Order: sequence, then C-alpha cells, then structure tokens
Amino acid sequence: MAKEVDIIKEKLPVLDVVRSYVALSPAGRNFKGLCPFHPEKTPSFIVSPDRRSWHCFGCAEGGDIFTFVMKYENMEFPEALRFLADKAGVPIRSLDPAHQREFGILLDINEDAKNFYAESLQKNAAALEYVHSRGLTDETIKEFELGFSPGGESLTLYLIKKGYDVNDAVRAGLIYKTARNMFRDRFEGRIMFPICNSTGKVVAFTGRVFGAQSADADVPKYVNSPETPVFNKSRVLYGLHKTKMEIAHSKTVVVVEGQMDFLMAWQCGVRNAVAVSGTGFTENHLEKLRRLADTVVASFDNDEAGRKAMERMLDMLNQYDFHVKVISFGTYKDPAEALQHDPTSLAKVIESAEPAFTFLFERYFGNEKVRGDMAMKKRVIVHLLTLVSHLKSPVERGEWVRALSSASGVNESTLQEQMNELAAPVVKKEEAQSPQDSFEESRVSRISRQLVQIAFTSDELKGIILQNKEYMPRGFIDIIEHPEAESAGLSQMQSSYTFGSADADEIRKECSELIKQLQLEFFKRAQEGAKDELRAAEQEGDDEKFSSAMGKFQEFSKKINELKK
Ligand SMILES: [Zn+2]
Repeated sequence: MAKEVDIIKEKLPVLDVVRSYVALSPAGRNFKGLCPFHPEKTPSFIVSPDRRSWHCFGCAEGGDIFTFVMKYENMEFPEALRFLADKAGVPIRSLDPAHQREFGILLDINEDAKNFYAESLQKNAAALEYVHSRGLTDETIKEFELGFSPGGESLTLYLIKKGYDVNDAVRAGLIYKTARNMFRDRFEGRIMFPICNSTGKVVAFTGRVFGAQSADADVPKYVNSPETPVFNKSRVLYGLHKTKMEIAHSKTVVVVEGQMDFLMAWQCGVRNAVAVSGTGFTENHLEKLRRLADTVVASFDNDEAGRKAMERMLDMLNQYDFHVKVISFGTYKDPAEALQHDPTSLAKVIESAEPAFTFLFERYFGNEKVRGDMAMKKRVIVHLLTLVSHLKSPVERGEWVRALSSASGVNESTLQEQMNELAAPVVKKEEAQSPQDSFEESRVSRISRQLVQIAFTSDELKGIILQNKEYMPRGFIDIIEHPEAESAGLSQMQSSYTFGSADADEIRKECSELIKQLQLEFFKRAQEGAKDELRAAEQEGDDEKFSSAMGKFQEFSKKINELKK
C-alpha cells in the first residue's frame, strides 16, 4: 500500500488539496493561512509544497494530505485513502486486497443492507403506515433511504446470496450469532435509519421500534450499530452529509435531538440541521461544526430533562465560542410533533430564536418562587454566572452580566465581583499546573505515537523500543504488545504509509532520535520533581532531604546534558 500512497501524493500536491479547504497566501517558499483546526485570528498554519506537508504552530497539528483529510473530513485512514485515490484517479483496485477485505467490504455490506431494508419497508404495510403516520412523505423516505428490518434470517440470506461472508456481516454489526449458532438480524422489527459519514457512505444504522413493540418498556426504543472499523459514533452526525454545504453557507447550524426531528425539519425546508441522536455532542462534533458555522440554533424537548440537556450543551458550545440560540416549541413535546401540526412553525421559531442566556434568564427569573426566595435566588445567580464565566469573549461576558443584572435586579458590579470570585480558583489551578505541563504531555504522546508506528516496521526496532518502555505512557506500550487488538490496526496502517517506503537505515535513525527525545522529556520531568523537593527541603530546613534531592537533581541534569549532546 505504501506504493499507492506515494503515487497519490505524487499526483495530488499538498498545496492543491489543502487549498480546496483553506485560503492560503504565499510566505517565502511556503504558504500560510488560518488554521482550520483551532480558532485563530492570525495565520499560524503553514503548508510546505517542498516537504509535501502542513503544520500549525498554534495547535501543533501537522502531517501530509492523508492526515489533513482524515482530520478535516473526520475520516479514518482507509476512507481517506479511498477518497484521495478517487481524486488522484489512482484505481482503487490497485489497493491492497487485505485492506479492501478489512474496510471496503464493511462499506459494501452496509450499502447492500441499506437496499435490502429499503425494499423491505415497501413490502411491509404496517411499517410503511407508521412512518407515514409520523408525517414523513415518500419523498423524504426515499431521500434518506429509510427502511425496515423484517428480522429472522432474511438479511443473512440476502447478504450470502450477494456473495458476502457471513462473518463480515457480523463484523459490520448487522447480524449476530445466537447460542444455537443461528445468525439473526440485530435490528429485527425496527424502522431503519441509515447513518452516513461525511462523504455520504452508509457506515451504520439506527433502528427504531414502532407499534406494539414500543409499548414494551423492556425493549429499547432505539438501537444503534456497534462501533466498527468504519463507524466511530463520536465522529458522525446524522444528516450532516446532506446539510454541510448549507450550514457553511448560512454559518448557522440547527441542532435537533433525534433523526425524526431532523427529517421533519428537512421536510419543512430546513436544510442546515443535524441530529445528535442520543449520544450528545462530543468534542469532535463541535470541532467539526465550528469549522462550518459560528451560530448554533438548538432545540430541546420541552421538559426538565430537555432544559438540563440544553444547559450542558450551552456550556460546551460556549467554550467553542459559538453564538448559541434556543428555540422552543411551546406546548408541543418535541420539534417533530410541532412540525406535524404546523409545518411552517419551524421557519417561524428559527427566525425568532432567542439567545440561550435570554431564554435561561427568563426561565429562572420568570418564576415567582425564585424571585421570592433569597436563598434560591442566590443559588440561581451562582449557577448562571458560572455558565456566563465560561464564555470565551470578555465582551460577551460583560454583556450577559449586564443582562443578568436587569433580569435579577442585582446590581451589575456585585455580579461582576461574584463572577471574579467564581473564576478565581480556576485560574489558580491553571497556574499551578502550568500550560507547559499539558504541552509536554502532548509532546510525550506525539513522540510515543510515532514510536508505536516504528515498532510495527521491524521486530528489531520493536525490541529496542520495548527496552525503553519505562519512558513511555502505558497505553502506547499496550498497542505495541498487543498488535492483534482492534485499536492497534490503525497504528499499523499508519505505520505502513508513514514508513512503508522509507529505507531501514532512515527508520533506525528516526527511531533512536525519538527515543532520545522521549528520554529527554522523562528526565526533564524528573529534574522538575527534584527541584520541587529541593525547594521543600530548603523551606523545612531538612539537610538530609536536601542533599538527597540535590543528588537526584545533579544526576538528572547530567542525563539531560548527555542526551542533548
Ligand atoms: Zn492550529
């Protein structure tokens, strides 16, 4: 595969690939622009055509066209490989058959299963009637390829007839083996929603119960595909492959809870929505959306749980510097229900969406009980100030303190003072840990990650790396020592494309340099620890402790100097 990777890199200059995502301007031999992976106002993102690589000096991300596409499009390596091979016109057939077997086949199976489910929906009157009764039109059903799982062995037989190995279908998470060695459909009797990745390939499904089954409290309402090599649920957002252009265009994303809400919104002409569907937002989702939009319009179920979920999400969104607005559907339970009664309602409520804080302030201080009870009022104010204090922009923080003042009747400077108190311990903690600590942590991880890849290139180097395992975090050793584990798969593939075409001497040199760096980080930390001990001993006036700490300090300093040579 290393050969194909090189051919693709040859055909697709890094500048062209990155330029189709990020505006770049010349800077000497290189090009620079605003980093798509962290918010910034002055460019620290550099593309080097000579080195066929990119690097950000702000967030320390970097790599080649593959890592860029993986990160930007939220793809795993095999998928990025397909994507770029397509772009480069390198025929996919020339790719490693083992790779096709491992990953490609899972995508093929999901695609065929989707067709099977879609056909089955058309043949099942009750299922079809249910989706219609929820207000979905045939057009939407077709557009989002909804289906129905008849269950039993029907899917298994269908896939076998198509020539698949039943074990691959198990690996895809669609069927499972019973105690009696029968293969059964995981989603039996459910309405099926295909989940696509950002390139529109089906990678998983959500199955929803309906009819008599939904009355049974023991039956989960929704079942999702398990995580597989092609499906990482913290990366995929339902509907995004259809709506990302419009989200980027409007700079606004409408966030709804479930697939049904999403589909109803789509049907009502809202083309910039996504559904979080159960799992809630992950950092990965937020990073991805932040590159497309700066405003989130969120809708939540109209109950206490919905409000709590909203406050949690608000806090996360604020940390990513989104403008957050909230829509409410009055007396309706959820957006899907509201839209079923009045299809025009969504456009209206989006138009009149309120900033999240306005919504919260009204909600709390509109309540007689809160206004009348001093203790409760104090608690509410602390709660709301905490949320406000997490806003990134000081201008916005000031604005919301002012608004809170007028909503609560407490004067602004008192609130400001209270907020400073709330913020104080957080600042102290950060100082104590020092940002450098976390930087060094990630440096150790970065070095270790590269060493893991090198360990997969030869047994000799693997041995050398394992001799140094005391310097490496446990998680990385595990990957090297358990190459058969699923989590090791990606490292192995990355290894083959990073080092596949490099010659052995080159890799050996890189390996010993990285080990040196790793040891250096280790001893630097040890030296810091000895310094702390020295300081403490000095304060306590403990001579014995002092000389032992001094001994350690000198020993570590000597090691550091040797390594630096
Ligand atoms: Zn960056």
